[in-house]
Amino acid sequence: MRKVVLGTETNYSFSLGELVYLLFKKKVCHKCGSDLEKHKGSAVRTETRSPLFKQGVQVKDYKYYFVCTEYESHFSLSELASK
Ligand SMILES: [Zn+2]
Repeated sequence: MRKVVLGTETNYSFSLGELVYLLFKKKVCHKCGSDLEKHKGSAVRTETRSPLFKQGVQVKDYKYYFVCTEYESHFSLSELASK
């Protein structure tokens, strides 16, 4: 009997603006001008909607977020890229 392995796929989804911000823009806090620290978070979800995915495949979404070194405010990448 063949063993069926449901793998975990990794997924980075960025809009163009987010990618540009991530690669080229200076990461400073919009509130106080302090440096922002980059952090990476991930969340696992089970993808069932898209026909491109087999049913029940786990997708690990990676998201970047930034934390102000001065006041510890959190900013999401999409929030920063839209400014
Ligand atoms: Zn700040």
